[in-house]
Amino acid sequence: MDESRKVGRHQVVVIGSGFGALFGTKALKRADVDVTVIARTGHHLFQPLLYQVATGILSEGEIAPSTREILARQRNARVLLGEVREIDLDARTVTSHVLGRATVTPYDSLIVAAGAGQSYFGHDEYAEYAPGMKSIDDALELRGRIFGAFELAELGASRGENVDHLLTFVVVGAGPTGVEMAGQIAELAHRTLRRDFHAINTRQARVVLVDAAGQVLPPFGAQLGARTKVALEKLGVEVLLGGMVTDVSERGILVQYKDGHTDWIAAATKIWAAGVQASSLTKTLSEQTGAPLDRSGRIRVNPDLTLPGYPEVFVIGDMIDLDHLPGVAQVAIQGGKYAAKEIRRRLAGKPPQKPFHYFDKGDLATISRFRAVARIGRFRLTGFVAWLLWLGVHLVYLTGFKNRFSALGHWAVSFIGRGRSERTATEQQIFGRQALTRLEGGAAGLVSNDDLAGPDPEAAARRRAELEEQALAEIRLTDSGERGQRSRT
Ligand SMILES: Cc1cc2nc3c(=O)[nH]c(=O)nc-3n(C[C@H](O)[C@H](O)[C@H](O)COP(=O)(O)OP(=O)(O)OC[C@H]3O[C@@H](n4cnc5c(N)ncnc54)[C@H](O)[C@@H]3O)c2cc1C
Repeated sequence: MDESRKVGRHQVVVIGSGFGALFGTKALKRADVDVTVIARTGHHLFQPLLYQVATGILSEGEIAPSTREILARQRNARVLLGEVREIDLDARTVTSHVLGRATVTPYDSLIVAAGAGQSYFGHDEYAEYAPGMKSIDDALELRGRIFGAFELAELGASRGENVDHLLTFVVVGAGPTGVEMAGQIAELAHRTLRRDFHAINTRQARVVLVDAAGQVLPPFGAQLGARTKVALEKLGVEVLLGGMVTDVSERGILVQYKDGHTDWIAAATKIWAAGVQASSLTKTLSEQTGAPLDRSGRIRVNPDLTLPGYPEVFVIGDMIDLDHLPGVAQVAIQGGKYAAKEIRRRLAGKPPQKPFHYFDKGDLATISRFRAVARIGRFRLTGFVAWLLWLGVHLVYLTGFKNRFSALGHWAVSFIGRGRSERTATEQQIFGRQALTRLEGGAAGLVSNDDLAGPDPEAAARRRAELEEQALAEIRLTDSGERGQRSRT
């Protein structure tokens, strides 16, 4: 039993450890409540900088500090690891699972901030060949694939093989993530790595950005979209607009245009930065309340961010469908603070606040070093000034002084110099996730399970052997260079 928790105190459960959850929890610091943060990872992820982990600029620790450490000084908050799968609105309980063990946590108030995942528009099979950009696992896997492609190209070229497919990088989705990713890969190839290889000329690498829409960065407006496209092209990125991806395989990607013609791009490295799907928790909340879901699985909430018929349940951030709010960090941060304030006011017997109003602080995206685009109200900024703004905002919002300091150091190394200090990637990072998804129970299939009848030991041993065999096969493929050769045909 946790001694610091008072008997009979108002219990707040917060689901998630992202922007909404963290800012909501912090805003309850001085409230007479106990807060339980339940999240499926032990870290708070600063998603806007994932692309810098994938391209070797920052380390994963710099953008994903431990949630426990961040909240260590908040005496009324505790952190529980677990993936929430059930929320019983009538019983007021949340059930979370970790490695096959279930934990039931009761609440008086609930803040649901489970965010969104990647959407492959009904083609989840693409994920195997085109990882998304939503988690540290994604970023590290991509880092391994990107730097690994250059290594395999060097190997192939020294044997006199055609390595064009290994030096082709396709990014799907020309929103901020896709633009930043394409820009950084182009910088890597054309600037950072150009002296590191001998058999290949990294400056000949092809970086392609594909989107079904007619312009890049639609949320930034037509003017900034057009300027960004020009800047990307100057950087050596091929921007293919109006192109719908209709197939993704190990060997490449098929793009179909409005007039029906198709374009096959042979590419070993594909990155999916296109669709977004709200956490599946919205489904269970919708079933229990009748609140509708939109096409991205976001749930319609009341103007005060609560669920119809359940004023003690707040849903915030990327999970909500309200007033066409965008899926950006500020919506989650402001939503978290709003929900916390409402809980405090109710406990103090004060009347409700006005409906949630989002204050739009604008949008920022980097294109390359020293070059960014910014939309602040009616103002549009591009180039170095926008980049300085980007730098300032990210330093303010990056969690923890230590992280800000070391991120600044890494940025100096990468942007003023030519280095990338975080190029390390292991085979487990590149192949481990795929192997895990082949296990019936995911990671839970690898541990003994005392709580439930669970998987029998023989089945677990068989799965483990399968996993080892798959991993060895993957390693053989890489070491023998067959992966590259097969992609050529
Ligand atoms: C690559 C990338 C770049 C981005 N760049 C920008 C940008 O430049 N500017 C900007 O404003 N926004 C950006 N965004 C969007 C921004 O990150 C999100 O809008 C914001 O993170 C949403 O906050 P949230 O709290 O709703 O969800 P998240 O921050 O996604 O947090 C969700 C949390 O819930 C946890 N979780 C999920 N499901 C469960 C479950 N079932 N049980 C327990 N825990 C669960 C997750 O582990 C996570 O901790 C970017 C997003 C991505 C992916």
